[in-house]
Amino acid sequence: MQIALKIDVDTHEGLKTGVPALARILRSEAVTASFFIAMGPDNSGKAIRRIITNRGFLSKMLRTRAVSMYGWRTIMSGTLLKPRPVAMAFPDLVRELSADGFEVGVHGYDHVRWQDQIDDLGEDGLEQEIEDAFQVYRAILATEPRGWAAPGWRTNAVALRLLEERNLLYRSDTRGSAPYRTQVYGKLLSTPEIPTTLPTLDEVLGREHLPDAASIAAFYKNQMRADRLNVHTLHAETEGIGYLESFALLVRGLKQAGAEFVRMDAIAAQLDRESLQICPVERGILAGRSGWVATQGTSNGA
Ligand SMILES: [Zn+2]
Repeated sequence: MQIALKIDVDTHEGLKTGVPALARILRSEAVTASFFIAMGPDNSGKAIRRIITNRGFLSKMLRTRAVSMYGWRTIMSGTLLKPRPVAMAFPDLVRELSADGFEVGVHGYDHVRWQDQIDDLGEDGLEQEIEDAFQVYRAILATEPRGWAAPGWRTNAVALRLLEERNLLYRSDTRGSAPYRTQVYGKLLSTPEIPTTLPTLDEVLGREHLPDAASIAAFYKNQMRADRLNVHTLHAETEGIGYLESFALLVRGLKQAGAEFVRMDAIAAQLDRESLQICPVERGILAGRSGWVATQGTSNGA
């Protein structure tokens, strides 16, 4: 059974606190993972404020332990207080991850702007987000990014086409079942897409009764499938801060079951692009998540 742990880092606090805690567990278990880090400012306060103005915010805040996980400084970031940088605030930490054998990929520049405004930014705006993210990545790691994971699993035809020009080894923008390629404006993109295959913890907590760390770990262990690549997206702000114990239990349980942990770039390097299935990128709604995400549509051939 192959498992790729895709760890998204959306915020300053997530990188500062969540990432070192997750990396400590991964190192002690000798397990690898892929970290996707937002390269620009942390405007997550804007996103959280939007949740607060939506109906049902209180139950969501309580259910996901938003305040205890993010802290008030994050909730205010980019609203009354100046946004703090994510990757650029901790360049040594990012370099250390890479030197330790973890993969470091790009999780956009301004996570909130990408997620909220992707269809309004236009070609110039999207290109600016991508270019800014790549520049920060290069400045920190002195190498070209190979993997891109869209903030909030949101993409569109223009973004896909712009990213295709970057000659990435792969993208991980969507939710789906297995790696594929897609077409944009009738043209088949060469960059493979490696979708997230499992629900995220914040989605699951809203719909399953999982009262403790052991039940969360058991739920995920049951979701893993032996017959395909399992891509599990975690959040530095969720598993890394509020749910470290269930994460450690899950990793240990999977190891005992003989799972093989793989980096996303290693999977991508082994893909035969020519024989990959071709699927449309669609938009869908997931239980436990507000708004749309990009999803893998039904294969229309290889
Ligand atoms: Zn994210």
